[in-house]
Amino acid sequence: MTEICPTCGCSLVRLRLPKESTVSYHHNDKEYGFCCQGCLDIFKTDPQKYLQEIIDLVVCPVCLKEKPIEWTSMLEHDGITYHFCRCPHCMEQFKKKPEYFIKRLEDITHGN
Ligand SMILES: [Zn+2]
Ligand SMILES: [Zn+2]
Ligand SMILES: [Zn+2]
Repeated sequence: MTEICPTCGCSLVRLRLPKESTVSYHHNDKEYGFCCQGCLDIFKTDPQKYLQEIIDLVVCPVCLKEKPIEWTSMLEHDGITYHFCRCPHCMEQFKKKPEYFIKRLEDITHGN
């Protein structure tokens, strides 16, 4: 799943933040990526609250917009389910070149 900064709810891929530019923080054995130190500072004041706020958010692989999961449509590709914003254009674009969009998500969130 694409990483979202838990404090501001922005997808790190939309902010074009490569992994090394994000601020990472371990909380309950899980690593979270933050867009900036300020977001991490706010997160530390009430981690549960912020995690709860993003729990249902997913990122459209094409327009990179964060959406509550119930507002999205699903598409399965190579056994993985992707969630898209409702715009049919996004799903059409994805179907044309899925590798491009998948790679774009991975490069930024898991790239070295
Ligand atoms: Zn943030
Ligand atoms: Zn921030
Ligand atoms: Zn979209």
